[in-house]
Amino acid sequence: MESINPANNQILKKYKNDKQPAVQAKIDNAARVFPYWRKTSYSSRANLLKKTANVLLNNKEQLAKLMALEMGKPLKEGVGEIEKCAWVCNYYAKNGAGFLKDLPVETDAASSYISYQPIGTILAVMPWNFPFWQVFRFIAPSIFAGNCGLLKHASNVPGCAIAIEKAMLEAGFPAGVFQTLLIDSKQVAKVLEAPSVRAVTLTGSTAAGQQVAAKAASLIKKSVLELGGSDPYLILKNADLELAATVCANSRLINNGQSCIAAKRFIVDRSVAEKFTQLLKEKMSSKVMGDPLDPHTDLGPMSRIDLRDELHELVLQNKKAGAQVLLGGELPEQSKNNAFYPPTILYNVKKSMSAYTEEIFGPVASIILAADTQDAIAIANDTSFGLGAAVFTKSKREGERIAREELDAGACFVNSLVKSDPRLPFGGVKMSGYGRELGLHGIHEFVNIKTVYVA
Ligand code: NDP
Repeated sequence: MESINPANNQILKKYKNDKQPAVQAKIDNAARVFPYWRKTSYSSRANLLKKTANVLLNNKEQLAKLMALEMGKPLKEGVGEIEKCAWVCNYYAKNGAGFLKDLPVETDAASSYISYQPIGTILAVMPWNFPFWQVFRFIAPSIFAGNCGLLKHASNVPGCAIAIEKAMLEAGFPAGVFQTLLIDSKQVAKVLEAPSVRAVTLTGSTAAGQQVAAKAASLIKKSVLELGGSDPYLILKNADLELAATVCANSRLINNGQSCIAAKRFIVDRSVAEKFTQLLKEKMSSKVMGDPLDPHTDLGPMSRIDLRDELHELVLQNKKAGAQVLLGGELPEQSKNNAFYPPTILYNVKKSMSAYTEEIFGPVASIILAADTQDAIAIANDTSFGLGAAVFTKSKREGERIAREELDAGACFVNSLVKSDPRLPFGGVKMSGYGRELGLHGIHEFVNIKTVYVA
């Protein structure tokens, strides 16, 4: 396994894959510590999560630098990511016990209630785009609930994977409660087959989700899938266009466009399309692309050269199919030795084009024109994905109605970008996956919701 700096294609470090005996030893470590861990008190688990938050905050610059080097995230975004990880740890430290409290249910029994019990070891298969956040939003609720965790991180961020285990140990979590496996995707099925591994959570591409979930289903093990989306942002004719363009540019370009909940399809009422497009172009072109280690950089390189090349291919395809390229769309100099890609706008994207149907994982905005609000809603839902969606309108009432009743997605925002928040459930519908992370619902995914009935 190698970590390669996407800003210059230089190898940062090589890592040895864990061979099967080492993987088995880690699975066994987790199985051994689980009976002890599940009996620890909520308050001691909360203390450990609080300590983890402190370890993260004390090392945030260093961890942000690691992300910048391994996958190109600009330093300032990396620091923000680590702070958010500390937030989710503190959030479950404070609220976890309340979420897992027995819930009495009146029946004909002398006493009957619901109790939330841990289930064992959970495997987390995670992506490179938010290498700390994606993992901590799994760790905080699942480990607090008394489970053990095994992480199979993306192959291009082994340094981050190791740093996460180190932070957990430094905070005082007992050895075996959380461990990193340095394995490639072919080794995942075997891990899932271990009897002590009871469930899997995966964030990543549809193809990866399908394969891992199929394996889990064959073993009757639960899976939670977060598979990305092609989030529609509806710009209605009465939208505050300045606000909409600012938010849309920020959302499209967060993490250089490599976010599952980035704004991807801009569905704009035809009557305001020209003005909105001009504003969006101004905002997107004002972002500074450069060395992710430079504190002034807004956009670093993409995480891998192969993914950047695929993205460029997709832009060219859509151009050929008739989309207008209003900004960007060209490979930078020396592109063989870096993964940079400029902010790009595809205008007048039509249903027949791949930018309409596929998830575009990079800094490319697709503008689709709508005849009116009903048409915009229909286009927004005309997708196999259903992760997030946003609507921009000066009528909050109309926006809320559309968000609540019309848009087919797991999280619908009004006049704001779609974002994850430890207090709110996060997850999708349709091909964006199933299950929820974060909030009250996230901590209930990997527990045995046990009925206790005392006659
Ligand atoms: P993948 O889905 O391939 O990788 C995500 C994680 O899944 C990695 O840990 C990867 O391991 C693992 N994985 C992949 N295939 C399998 C498999 N068959 N069995 C078990 N584990 C597997 O994403 P890519 O890095 O290839 O990116 C491709 C596309 O995926 C992106 O362009 C984007 O569309 C989507 N994606 C979506 C994300 C999201 O947040 N929803 C995040 C990342 C990607 P390994 O790295 O070893 O292959």
